[in-house]
Amino acid sequence: MQDNPWTIRELLKVTTDYLQKKQLDVCRLTAEILLAHCLNITRMDLYLDLDRPLNDSEVSAYREAIRRRISREPLEYITGTQEFWSLSFYVDKRVLIPRPESELLVEQTVELLKKATLSDNPRILDLGTGSGALAVAMAKEIPKARIWASDISEGAIEVARMNAQRNGVSDRIDFRYGDLLQPFAHQDIAFDLIVSNPPYVSSEEYDDLPPEVRDHEPRLALDGHQDGLFYISRIIEQCPNFLRPGGWLLLEMAPGQTEKALELIESKMAYSESARIMDYSRHYRVVRAMKIAD
Ligand code: GLN
Repeated sequence: MQDNPWTIRELLKVTTDYLQKKQLDVCRLTAEILLAHCLNITRMDLYLDLDRPLNDSEVSAYREAIRRRISREPLEYITGTQEFWSLSFYVDKRVLIPRPESELLVEQTVELLKKATLSDNPRILDLGTGSGALAVAMAKEIPKARIWASDISEGAIEVARMNAQRNGVSDRIDFRYGDLLQPFAHQDIAFDLIVSNPPYVSSEEYDDLPPEVRDHEPRLALDGHQDGLFYISRIIEQCPNFLRPGGWLLLEMAPGQTEKALELIESKMAYSESARIMDYSRHYRVVRAMKIAD
């Protein structure tokens, strides 16, 4: 420890150098985000007070945050937040950090609901809700919708409930615990729309994921076994029993899986109008299909 207290300016400088030495990326930004987080101020505030001296407990909280990042823990778990659909979500290691490409599922839902054939008060299921990002974003975006959100992880359901509360939509979402559609078996429920971002990383790709993802995000939320299609194929198989005729299934997946998913959908004979949709990086990311009448 140096004799004089560290200032914000000095601490950001040495920490940025340290993160660089440890070969992390966006080092200056990371140093700033974590210091602002530890001091409970904004990044702008740091710049307005660069010569502010920091006390020992502030410095030790920061050291701990930096230690976590050096061990490749994602920044979002350390700060406990991630933005999705311009809303703020609490995240921790019980849930996958919401990815920007999943916003395409919300956009597509809104788009499909404009079709006259769908109900004014649609029933929507977010299957495998995780942090609740999709369910909460849809509740915000579609005020007339009734929303259900399910997950097999009790920890995820707890986080999703917190996020519904945080965004003022907890009375709009019905949370269910269980494997895929099992919570809705024997319930006589027919959804207008089922949306899902299931685990879809293949066994082959799993080990090559960045350490942030592979070693810190929940395997249960990522691992789609062999070719990554384990859950996707089960969802395609089960959903016709839980959709009303004319209702839609919307599934996120890896671009290389979309062709196989379309084949599975077409071989099922329960769907029509299947299509795949590109995300903003111009990769096929979402597959959708409509349930035909029985
Ligand atoms: N898009 C995620 C990733 O590549 C995977 C998400 C998922 O399996 N649902 O890290």
